[in-house]
Amino acid sequence: MTKYIFCTGGVVSSLGKGVAAASIGRILKSRGLAVTVQKLDPYLNVDPGTMSPYEHGEVFVLEDGAETDLDLGAYERFIDENLSRASNLTSGQVYQQVINRERRGDYLGKTIQVIPHVTNQIKATINQVARQTKADVVIVEVGGTVGDIEGLPFLEALRQMRKDLGRDNTYYIHVTLLPHLATTNELKTKPTQHSVRELRGIGIQPDMIMCRADLPVGDDLREKIALFCDVDRQAVIPLPTASTIYEVPLTLEDYRVADIICARMKIDCRTPDLAEWRDMVAHIKGPKPHTVTVGIVGKYVELEDAYMSVYEALNHAAVHHNCAVNIEWISSEDLERMRNVERLENLDGIVVPGGFGERGVEGKIVAAKFARVRKVPYLGLCLGMQVMVIELAREVFESDAPNSTEFNPATTHPVIDLMPDQRDIADLGGTMRLGSYPCHLIPGTIAANAYQADQVDERHRHRFEFNNEFKEQLGQAGLVFSGLSPDGRLVEIAELRDHPFMLGSQFHPEFKSRPTRPHPLFAQFIRAALDRVVAAQSAPAAATEPAPVSG
Ligand code: GLN
Repeated sequence: MTKYIFCTGGVVSSLGKGVAAASIGRILKSRGLAVTVQKLDPYLNVDPGTMSPYEHGEVFVLEDGAETDLDLGAYERFIDENLSRASNLTSGQVYQQVINRERRGDYLGKTIQVIPHVTNQIKATINQVARQTKADVVIVEVGGTVGDIEGLPFLEALRQMRKDLGRDNTYYIHVTLLPHLATTNELKTKPTQHSVRELRGIGIQPDMIMCRADLPVGDDLREKIALFCDVDRQAVIPLPTASTIYEVPLTLEDYRVADIICARMKIDCRTPDLAEWRDMVAHIKGPKPHTVTVGIVGKYVELEDAYMSVYEALNHAAVHHNCAVNIEWISSEDLERMRNVERLENLDGIVVPGGFGERGVEGKIVAAKFARVRKVPYLGLCLGMQVMVIELAREVFESDAPNSTEFNPATTHPVIDLMPDQRDIADLGGTMRLGSYPCHLIPGTIAANAYQADQVDERHRHRFEFNNEFKEQLGQAGLVFSGLSPDGRLVEIAELRDHPFMLGSQFHPEFKSRPTRPHPLFAQFIRAALDRVVAAQSAPAAATEPAPVSG
């Protein structure tokens, strides 16, 4: 019998509910249980694929090509399992499914209502995840905050699940905030009490309350919350702000969260094995002999969540090499206007992440040129690879004409273009190449050496590709096509010869990096940046030969 743990949020959004849910997954998995995590998002968009990164942060892509909420990235990193399309359900999807069924006549003329039709559809998707994954425990996080109008059908469905499945098989965790008042220097519990009251009004009595706070939460406060909210004192769990999110499972373990849950739900499991995780956290927090400074050159740098997986992957790789990584967020639009270009001077490595649309692209090209000319390690992710190709082509053809047809449809040198057989599809509204595809690696290249493999599978989210008409000329200029689709038609990885590390991938390696298993390309990139730091320290004079860079 599958067990269900439901996580709701109260008081404010952006509490780190996703990290809490993912951390519960990790401590249960460490007890030998098969675990999966699902996110229910109350907004009406069908998926986050078309939502602005400014509003919603990164779009996380799964193996099967689903474009999902960034919390799914946290789940995958913490529980180290690949999730699937059904792992992220939005209100938009639920209503779309219900309305499609209504149009097909599936409801036999009945009046369609939120209860039971919408709630049944929600429960069916939760059950579908349980069936597909055969998990012992399904953790379900509801986005937003209790009290949001659009979240009500989800909460009602969760309420019904206790009725359907019984107390032993369902467990409700409410994550709240204890705000800190500076004047009296105390944490306040009242908003938590109100939020639990709101939840009870919907018919859900939480079994556990997790309290996010910026200060330590004393036993007196736990006692008070237990009394007012009617939960066991030991089930009031303090979640103080951690120096690294990866510490949260260890905090939960200190408060015996998994033991409490397993005892209540009558789950048989072995003693936890968190040795590897503890080791990783100790590594993150431990002293580091070197720091590498990496610039992320993008257009959404004001909102770091827009590049969450890239940020995480850089950190995983740095931990692997026992160095610290200092991230500089550099606006590509600044570089485009030749503002702040001197910021590139201080970098040990440059990452140009994915992106869409013309804005800021010329600034990314400035960064790619700087990396090439000054031999600074460069990692290009999707658009970052395309930019690297455009920049080299402009050098080869001694012209600004080379471009992607995404940015200049009339360019005389379309080095990045739609595939001929894609053009018709694109004209019909276009869909992207999404999800996992195999990539064949050419032996002896930096890519093949990094992966130590002949073939890998990586996740994609793009429309445009390297244009093979330019393969020969760019190849002669030093570009090595080190990863290709198995039929050889698509360039998946390009790298530059006679450069410490200048590599771009058409896919998004960041989506597959895990804290205890850094992604090989990120690991190799950080290695190159670290080599540069070490070399500069041993020979300070030789490391700074200036070379002119212009737009
Ligand atoms: N805009 C580019 C394309 O569609 C790159 C996409 C991306 O970086 N994810 O091909």
